Amino acid sequence: MSLVTHSGFPRIGLKRELKRSLESHWRGEAPAQALLDTARGLRRRHWRLAVDAGAHVVPCNDFSLYDHVLDTAVLFDAIPSRYRPIFAENALDGYFAMARGHKRDGHDLAALEMTKWFDTNYHYLVPELEANQHFALTGDKPLAEFREAREQGHQARPVLLGPVSFLLLSKTVDGSDRLALLEALLPAYIELLGQLADAGADWVQLDEPCLVLDLDGDDHAAYRQAYASLAEAHRPRLLLASYFGALGDNLTLASTLPVDGLHIDLARAPEQLDAVLDALPSGHILSVGVVDGRNVWRSSPDRVLPALRKARERLGGDHLWLAPSCSLLHVPIDLEAETTLDPKQRAPMAFARQKIEELRVYADALADQPEAMAALAAQQALLNAQVHTPGVINTEVRSRLNTLGPQASLRRSAYAMRRMTQSEIRPLPPLPTTTIGSFPQTDTLRKARAAYRSGRLDEDAYEAMLQAEIERVVRFQEAIGLDVLVHGEPERNDMVEYFGEQLDGYLFTKLGWVQSYGSRCVKPPVIYGDVARRAPMTVRWSSYAQSLTTKPMKGMLTGPVTMLQWSFVRDDLPRETVCRQMALALRDEVHDLEAAGIEIIQIDEPALREGLPLRHIDWPRYLDWAVECFRITAGGVRDTTQIHTHMCYSEFNDIIEAVAAMDADVISIETSRSRMELLDAFVRFHYPNGIGPGVYDIHSPRVPAVEEMLDLLHKALDVLQPAQLWINPDCGLKTRGWPEVELALRRMVDSARQLRDELQLAA
Ligand code: GLN
Ligand code: ZN
Repeated sequence: MSLVTHSGFPRIGLKRELKRSLESHWRGEAPAQALLDTARGLRRRHWRLAVDAGAHVVPCNDFSLYDHVLDTAVLFDAIPSRYRPIFAENALDGYFAMARGHKRDGHDLAALEMTKWFDTNYHYLVPELEANQHFALTGDKPLAEFREAREQGHQARPVLLGPVSFLLLSKTVDGSDRLALLEALLPAYIELLGQLADAGADWVQLDEPCLVLDLDGDDHAAYRQAYASLAEAHRPRLLLASYFGALGDNLTLASTLPVDGLHIDLARAPEQLDAVLDALPSGHILSVGVVDGRNVWRSSPDRVLPALRKARERLGGDHLWLAPSCSLLHVPIDLEAETTLDPKQRAPMAFARQKIEELRVYADALADQPEAMAALAAQQALLNAQVHTPGVINTEVRSRLNTLGPQASLRRSAYAMRRMTQSEIRPLPPLPTTTIGSFPQTDTLRKARAAYRSGRLDEDAYEAMLQAEIERVVRFQEAIGLDVLVHGEPERNDMVEYFGEQLDGYLFTKLGWVQSYGSRCVKPPVIYGDVARRAPMTVRWSSYAQSLTTKPMKGMLTGPVTMLQWSFVRDDLPRETVCRQMALALRDEVHDLEAAGIEIIQIDEPALREGLPLRHIDWPRYLDWAVECFRITAGGVRDTTQIHTHMCYSEFNDIIEAVAAMDADVISIETSRSRMELLDAFVRFHYPNGIGPGVYDIHSPRVPAVEEMLDLLHKALDVLQPAQLWINPDCGLKTRGWPEVELALRRMVDSARQLRDELQLAA
């Protein structure tokens, strides 16, 4: 029988047990041992669950306390020297210092840079390397977790981030060549493989997701060198895992590396099967990722079964493994827990557990088991009947979209003209200060929301509480002297969920948590039907906030691309069509805000870059529709209405033209963690509109000094004009506590004042 396995499981726990445990440890309330016990308990539960769902072999070392790329760096001793004193005192503290920064006992350290894991909403920590970097196998995490799984009676396959992807995902701090470090790194991998072999591991999975990217000759050479030396080592058999797309022009490379098996993603790239089957050396295992590890829909047996049959015919059943397309890290754990969902809506869905069950049914069907065949036939019939499920098709939205003219994505005048009109009717000080939208989500707020949702707090009391919070935020901003205010978003649990809940076409899970970074999880809503707005969504909060102050109040919306990117999207329509539906719904909201007297409206698109295809050749098409959707959202307003957008946590240098094409009057953009690396783009490209490169990192509790902010602002002024510069943090403040926010924003306003003085710009 073909073997059923998977290559990684969500770590956080059905009820976010890991999150709770991490956070209480960070607050100093729980000892390290309590955290490690929680982690061990989760691993045990998840291995059991996978086996009960039908997996023959489970992965190990896919678990992480924070991030698996950070784990790999620490495992091989790639620890930047500034963290070493903390490691020397306590290894776990050192690990978290790299992840989150560290300000305690005389230390004041920033965290490693964090960036998106390929095109997912998972974030990894970017290892910092240098020329002549030293590597050594100093940890035993993979080995310990292998032994742990085996003691629990499981057949386990250690998963490691492969050496070439590890280097390609790292950065060197001195500009030296990352791949030059391969030779120094390989002995550590070889030693580890030897230890795993001695401990009895049959297979090790080496994740090389970079194999689906555009690679050059040097990258290819690195792959050949790396795998040639690993092949000679004393080692288990090696499964080379690719995912998130097609191998494409790297197929010849991948299929000729001296390994024992290859994993391919057939959910994103089903078309690559034939080529892979032709290229695969005889005797190799092929692990086929046939169910989508990144989305919540059941697979289509009409698509999967023929592919499986073809692969089995060519390889034989015992050389074929069935797996999800990638780690299940990117989907929630168990649909069974969603007891409140309408069974009709639940029927076409599958979470991690159901995906493993699906694989087992496919394996049984390949072995000609009649019940499995019947189950697959029923699954296909159910998927075919989806169009008749209420809410899936909205004819009004479809016809509005069909008749949408090209002028819908145009502002009335060009930026230069709008800028003049706007500064006439609403003069702002030079170097205006603002924030990105949210203020701290306090415990009181969260508790009140929970009470409101469960009916323990009535609507009037909840609204009064939100209004009081808005007032406090407004008064605070006035007191410290910010120029463009926000209402603070206290009514929002999450920037996507909040809107999704008010839109048709969305459904919500109770426990559908997915890890975003560290202990932070999101519960992506699910777009199952056509998207439409029922009624205004934010107008009353923004109007109330504006009524409290004479300063301009910025309205705050999540943009169409981000709504799409951070939701699970139906797979029966092209993504761009779903995005256009979203843009129309948000356009109506922008219109209503404007009509209510809100003159500045921010449409957040932090996820714009995240949606970029992994291969460059596919970029222009995506950027075209993504930018167009933003412009449809903003396009209906008067010239006097100032449109802002916000982007964060990725590099924008290479899409700066598309960012400019969005034609927002002002953009706030993350730059402080990377020390304004973004600004390099403005050397080659003249960005015309207003821009606020974030002056401090809100993802860390560390509050930088005024001088540090000024230093970043000076860097910005090397390439930007004072007249276009705005001063703001990197991102929203909802995850922070009030004391740090207060201090940081005061310093930020101070830095603006000092800079105005220095440039002799009168406020
Ligand atoms: N307006 C949002 C906030 O401030 C933006 C969040 C984000 O960029 N992720 O929370
Ligand atoms: Zn942000």
